[in-house]
Amino acid sequence: VITMQVEQTGGIADCIFCKIAAGEIPTRKVYEDDAVLAFHDVNPKAEVHFLLIPKQHVVSLAHCSADDEAMLGQLMLLVPRLAAEQGLSNGFKTAINTGRGGGQEVFHLHVHVYACRIDWPCY
Ligand code: 5GP
Repeated sequence: VITMQVEQTGGIADCIFCKIAAGEIPTRKVYEDDAVLAFHDVNPKAEVHFLLIPKQHVVSLAHCSADDEAMLGQLMLLVPRLAAEQGLSNGFKTAINTGRGGGQEVFHLHVHVYACRIDWPCY
């Protein structure tokens, strides 16, 4: 796992989402607690598009183990709550891109949440 992190991100020290979690890079925050941060995507694909991350560096869903069950459960249960708080009363899309073949560009686990509108289709 460590080898893969170094290969894909240059290491935890260079992880942009770790820097965001540490408050070193400013973001528009949606939610924060000890373990989780949610913030608006800098390049939104919908009117509302935010990301949920564990503050702890986890490369991807494929790097999770049984030890991560509680964290994954917390992320998933926060999704509908934060979506409602962001006004997505008509539903929302949830995506986790895993690995380069899955479209993952930032190698720190994150859950995308975004809305679709007739004039702003989901894709
Ligand atoms: P991925 O393709 O890895 O699933 O998605 C990464 C997402 O992170 C993209 O939607 C991209 O716009 C977003 N992103 C990348 N860098 C930053 C950043 O520095 N700040 C914020 N807020 N979002 C970012």
